[in-house]
Amino acid sequence: MTAVALPYRGRFAPSPTGHLHAGSLSTAIGSYLEARCRGGEWLLRIEDIDPPREVAGAATGILHTLEQLGFEWDGAVLYQHTRLDAYQTALKQLQQQGLAYGCGCSRSEIAAYGIRGLEGWVYPNLCRDGLAAGKTARAWRMRVPAGEYRFYDRLRGWQQQNVAAEIGDFVLRRADGLFAYQLAVVVDDAAQGITDVVRGADLLDSTARQIVLQQALQVPTPSYCHLPLLVNQAGEKLSKQTLAPPLDLTQPAQTLRQGLQRLGLFPPLECQQISELWQWARIHWQLSNVNAACQVIDRTP
Ligand code: GLU
Repeated sequence: MTAVALPYRGRFAPSPTGHLHAGSLSTAIGSYLEARCRGGEWLLRIEDIDPPREVAGAATGILHTLEQLGFEWDGAVLYQHTRLDAYQTALKQLQQQGLAYGCGCSRSEIAAYGIRGLEGWVYPNLCRDGLAAGKTARAWRMRVPAGEYRFYDRLRGWQQQNVAAEIGDFVLRRADGLFAYQLAVVVDDAAQGITDVVRGADLLDSTARQIVLQQALQVPTPSYCHLPLLVNQAGEKLSKQTLAPPLDLTQPAQTLRQGLQRLGLFPPLECQQISELWQWARIHWQLSNVNAACQVIDRTP
C-alpha cells in the first residue's frame, strides 16, 4: 500500500498575552508563506488557556493586526478556552492508561532535590508511584518514558532530547486547575489536522514533550520547523517581558516589508501595496534561505 501524503495544513497559534510585535510577526509570516507556497491551508488558533497571563483585548487586537497586514486564514479562529472538554478527555485517557499521575508536591519540595534541567527543576518523581503520605493530588503529571526522542527540524536537521532526564515528568494540569500548554497544543494540533508546525525557536525544547504526548495519545506527529528568534539589542527574545514595542500600524505596508526583510525577503520598492508585497513574497519565499542559526537583531528603538 502506498502512503498518501496529507495536504499541507499549517497554523499560527499566538497566546493573547499582549500585542503582536516584530518577533511574533516573523513567526506569523514564516508559517503563512510556507503554508501558502506549499498550496496549503493556514489556520489561526488563539491559545487563551492561561487567563492570569492574558491581557484584555489582546486576542481581538492580534486578529485586527493580522487583518491589517493582509493575512488570510482558513476557516474559523479556534479559541482554546472553548476546548477544555477536549483537554479533559485527553487527560482522562492518559490517566486510564496509567500515563498521567496526581502529584501533591510544592515547588519548594521539588527545588529541594536540586536536579536542574533544561527548563528549571526536573521533577524528582516523588509521587510517581503513588502520592506520598499525607499529600493530595494538586497537579497531574505525565509519566515520561525513559530514552531519547528524535525529530527532524526542517531548518535545523535532526534534534534529540532525553525528555525524562532533561525535563522530567512534566505537568499536564496545573495545581490551579489550568491545563498546560503542552497538552492543549497536542490535542488541538491533532484535532485541527495540522501537518506542519512552523513556529519560533523558543519552542524547540517543547517539541520532544509534544511527541511524548502524541505517541501516548496515538495521534500523528506533524513535521516541525523552528524559525530563528528575533532578539533586541541586549540579546533578549522580543516579548512582552522584554518590552517589545507594538507593531506600527499607521503604515501597515512598511511594517509588512520590515517583517519580510527580517526573514531574508527584500521586495523591490515598486511593491507598495500590501497585496503586491504578499504576491512578491509568495514567489520568492524559500524556507531554506532562512538562516536558522541567526538571531535577528531588531533595531526598533
Ligand atoms: N502560543 C504559543 C506562543 O504564543 C505558540 C505555540 C505554538 O506555536 O506551538 O508562543
